[in-house]
Amino acid sequence: MSVPTTELPTIADLPRTTRAAVLTAHGEPLTLQDLPLPSEIEPGAALVRIACTTLCGTDIEIWEGRMTFPGMLPMVLGHEMVGEIVATGPDARDALGRPLAPGDRIGWSESTCGECHGCVVLREPVACAHRGYGFLQRADVPPFATAGLSEYAYVTPGAAKLLLPASVKDTWASMAGCAAKTVLRAFERAGRLRPGSSVVVQGAGALGIFATAVAKISGAGQVITVGAPASRLALAGRFGADAVVDFRDGPVVDQVMALTGGRGADHVFDFAGAPSVGPDAIGMAAQRGTIAIVGSTGPAGDGFPLSTIMGKELTVVGSLNGDISDYSRAIDFFTAFADRFPWDDLFSTPVGLADASTKIADMHHLDEVKAVIDPRL
Ligand SMILES: [Zn+2]
Ligand SMILES: [Zn+2]
Repeated sequence: MSVPTTELPTIADLPRTTRAAVLTAHGEPLTLQDLPLPSEIEPGAALVRIACTTLCGTDIEIWEGRMTFPGMLPMVLGHEMVGEIVATGPDARDALGRPLAPGDRIGWSESTCGECHGCVVLREPVACAHRGYGFLQRADVPPFATAGLSEYAYVTPGAAKLLLPASVKDTWASMAGCAAKTVLRAFERAGRLRPGSSVVVQGAGALGIFATAVAKISGAGQVITVGAPASRLALAGRFGADAVVDFRDGPVVDQVMALTGGRGADHVFDFAGAPSVGPDAIGMAAQRGTIAIVGSTGPAGDGFPLSTIMGKELTVVGSLNGDISDYSRAIDFFTAFADRFPWDDLFSTPVGLADASTKIADMHHLDEVKAVIDPRL
């Protein structure tokens, strides 16, 4: 439906600016700024007051400058968030077609164009040639504030929005927007997980710990979580790990082989991205095992023998983030398994925007698994 521009609602009674924590230089503290908000809301768009943003490893990598988007500074970080709608454009609906109105609580993450080869032919939103995230929006170019570290955010027409059930907490729903959906997609990509099978999760960050829980819930007989430091491995134990491997205690492959009776793991999931992930995964995968590469965002890793992939008849799959399907399933997952594990233990105490820089530094130093920002504080 097209609506003439002149009929679009203005937001005269709504905020014209928003406080946001802006990244102006990699590795530097974020600066609190007042960004403009769009003066009108397009059809299908919404203006949201953010209630919760959880920080993701990608936010930290961008802050560090390990992941960069040339020409995109200044930017607002944060792409796992939940908020309350304060205004909508005409015909605003969520991804399942449900009408959206002020007062509704929604989550959203990336946007897609719906018109490219990835969207139309592959029907894979993660393959969209014009996939947009809040952090792919310059903070000095309209619509300015589309990301999570902001009091208000403009949710674009193409953003996949989801009305949230009251049963799923703000923190859980925020995490569903990237970390949880990424894990669920990886399990889908890895294929059948036979009940009782063995699973190694490489990485003990938010993704790895959540994946540990998903593996257990999915019927794995033995879940081994590999990582460090000890505090994170202890947390993995509370989320279903039958054994943990500290990579500082010696070769990871040797430790996993000892724990699996020399057979290796039926499934290996990379949520670590360290250079050793490839050779470790292939070394500790069992005959006919599967390896899902999820966390290797860097340019290169250590070499590994293709002959072992052949000899063990391994299946290796990549898994890239997730789409609105995975996001919706992540919300359903938290609804179904709300009491199964102590999900709240993943999250730090919420802080306001002024403390976002401190939280990024804490996650950079691995002191916290998932920092929580409540811009209303
Ligand atoms: Zn597209
Ligand atoms: Zn993320």
